[in-house]
Amino acid sequence: MNLKERIKSVTYLVLESLNYRMNLAATEKAKYENQVKGFDGEEQFDFHMSESHQSGVVLNDLVLNYRDTVFQIDSLLITNEAVYLYEVKNYAGSYYYKEDSFFTESEYKILNPLRQVDRSATYLHNVMLRLGYHLPIYPIIVFIHPEFTLYSSIPNKLFLFSNQLPKHLNSLASQNFLIKPDHMELAHQLKELHNENYRPDNLPVYHLEQLKKGVLCPTCFSTNHTDTRQNYFCTTCGHKETITTAIERSIKEFQLLFPEYLITTSHIYDWCGKSYSKERIRMILKANYQSHLSRHMTYYSEKSP
Ligand SMILES: [Zn+2]
Repeated sequence: MNLKERIKSVTYLVLESLNYRMNLAATEKAKYENQVKGFDGEEQFDFHMSESHQSGVVLNDLVLNYRDTVFQIDSLLITNEAVYLYEVKNYAGSYYYKEDSFFTESEYKILNPLRQVDRSATYLHNVMLRLGYHLPIYPIIVFIHPEFTLYSSIPNKLFLFSNQLPKHLNSLASQNFLIKPDHMELAHQLKELHNENYRPDNLPVYHLEQLKKGVLCPTCFSTNHTDTRQNYFCTTCGHKETITTAIERSIKEFQLLFPEYLITTSHIYDWCGKSYSKERIRMILKANYQSHLSRHMTYYSEKSP
């Protein structure tokens, strides 16, 4: 069973929004493309996981803290015997694994996923120990892309290739019976420890003034739209939603990009490209964000930009 669904990370969402609202530097653009590719790979992994009908518990995208260190887990499967920690890589093409390092065909060295997964497994072990659990942890690196080839002199048992994944997951599903209550409890406790507000410190630098304003289509990211009284229509791809939904999405996006700003009617009015009346925006803010506003009002009243 799946206890925690996968959602796009803060890094993904911020880069996605910036990509359509400003000219990203080449390195940031590459980072964004990596996020898209990575998420796509994780979704393919999720598909295989759900097809295998595990009786164990699956937790996706966990961000956990151990002391002052933050670590992220792509996917965790808790069974009665062990915890399987999956790091999903969506690399395509040929790679070499030699002298404990990963190289691309053109000899570029890439970050070693073995070290990454080993680090996560170590921290997870400590977090679980603190919660009173001694289950063994098996870290596995899943190379999900069907056109990935790894040339390596020594086979590594931590590597799992896309064609081996269904068999691996099915074998785990067939071993397991109903999950024990205390292992279910572990899953709930780990979910509780998930750091939802984690904001990495390597996000690009951006300012409100430099960003293109307007409501982005959730499907094609265009800002071109026409409206009826109640509905928003993307003129690029034909996506349709209520204007209320379009404004609510835009407010969430603004909050994500500028968590330090006060959400005011005039900020959101400008952010939506002045497409909708201040009255309409005020009503939506009143209905959805009253508690948010009052919570922040005191703190921001003097610092409000
Ligand atoms: Zn569209």
